[in-house]
Amino acid sequence: MQTSTAPIPKDAAAIVLLRHNTEPRHPEVFLVKRSDKLAFLGGFHAFPGGQFDPSDAEVPVEHAADLALRTAISCAARELFEETQVLVVRGGDALTHGQRASLLDDLQSGRMSWPALLKHYQLHLDASDFTFVGRWVTPPFSARRFDTWFFLVQAPAKQNARLSADGELESGEWIAAGAAHNRWERSEILAVPPVLHALKTLSEGLTDDLVERFLSLPNARHEPVRRIEFRPNYICFPVRTPTKPPATHTNCYLIHTSQSLLVIDPGSPYEDEQGALAKAVDELLGEGRTFSGILLTHVHPDHVGGVNALREHLRDVCDDLHVWAHQLTAAALPEIKVDQILADEEVLVLEGEPRISLRVMHTPGHARGHLCLYDERTGTLLSGDNIVGLGSVLIDPPEGNMRDYLHSLDRMGALPNLSVIFGGHGPAIANPYRKIDEYISHRLDREQKILEAVRQHAATPKEIVAQVYTDVSPKAHAMAERAVLAHLEKLVADGLVSQLGDGNWVSTLSA
Ligand SMILES: [Zn+2]
Repeated sequence: MQTSTAPIPKDAAAIVLLRHNTEPRHPEVFLVKRSDKLAFLGGFHAFPGGQFDPSDAEVPVEHAADLALRTAISCAARELFEETQVLVVRGGDALTHGQRASLLDDLQSGRMSWPALLKHYQLHLDASDFTFVGRWVTPPFSARRFDTWFFLVQAPAKQNARLSADGELESGEWIAAGAAHNRWERSEILAVPPVLHALKTLSEGLTDDLVERFLSLPNARHEPVRRIEFRPNYICFPVRTPTKPPATHTNCYLIHTSQSLLVIDPGSPYEDEQGALAKAVDELLGEGRTFSGILLTHVHPDHVGGVNALREHLRDVCDDLHVWAHQLTAAALPEIKVDQILADEEVLVLEGEPRISLRVMHTPGHARGHLCLYDERTGTLLSGDNIVGLGSVLIDPPEGNMRDYLHSLDRMGALPNLSVIFGGHGPAIANPYRKIDEYISHRLDREQKILEAVRQHAATPKEIVAQVYTDVSPKAHAMAERAVLAHLEKLVADGLVSQLGDGNWVSTLSA
């Protein structure tokens, strides 16, 4: 199987903006919500920030030790200004609100570059206004990765943070860090690890050791993040697998309460990755939990490759370890001992605090025995490979079935209070209904084009791909032909296409 390497992280910077004269024991920060429409982390809560611009390095920054720090501060200050209209510069006290607005207009319209603008208005940046509080790298499970510098900054007096109307951010608010962290604990918001860490660190107040506390986590010092807790009790633990590009990792999930631990899809066949997962499992068990079992969403090797190793690892601590899967998955995996069969609408309960009930949904399409899990209390859906946060879902017959797949997507979209989707690959999806709608309309759109191609006498998957998949690189054409076959089978079932004795496909209208 083909494998690919994870993308190189791009340099970025973000600002944890503290409210002017904030109460030191309950500091308030400016928290923004990313628009639902954004492909990357749409719907997540975050801090203002963004990617380095080539011109950022041209800005002089007083008291900055080296070029890298200077560039990061320049980027952070520019992004903050662009996104919230807050300008953290020296020499800018005399600027009125109106002048700042026209500066912003100059910058955003491209009339003036960031370095030219600062120079023209005799403004300058000073590193002592920007306290470095960490550098975090997006784990390699994401299509877009950043190496982000975080700075803590006091908002200047008399400047009100307000969002620019570029549509990237949906809302922004001053909120006590502790209150924001509580919202995460109540499963009301989603945030990536550095944002959560900042909220938690600040919730303990602006103490003398604040910066030390920020930097105390190895992840804040550039060490890769392994455990990602987008939501409490659900740890996303990506493991390296031989999977379908652009993915390089499969998400294993560690669902835990105060008493129980359930592992979903330990998929890595690689010893180092199995070892890392075993260590994370041991840590959670070491805190007093019992092992509830391993659940497999579906049959594919990148989701089941580490099951036997984990079972072996837990042999001594757990004599009656359960592996759960759908009957069709169990039947297709003779090398794995499946102890318990799960069927549609069964409910798995993890005892402890909080008590977690997971409703099992049999959702075929990507694989015949595919299962999703739904936690109605928090609106959390574990979608396996039916919906993913990275790349696309392959429907490859006969394991894959397009009609079943669309039906499964409809069922997921009909869940009453979805708030997040945890997929088998890539980051969590915080805009679930929009994502499901996109998936369905993408497939129906392709289906329509395939039907038109058949009506115009394209008779084989190869000919159809050449006409319809003009946006796909020729390297991916073999896989596209599999997807076309899945669409053709659906169109046959719908009565719109039929296959002739010579294998060619024709429209029933012209047949
Ligand atoms: Zn799969």
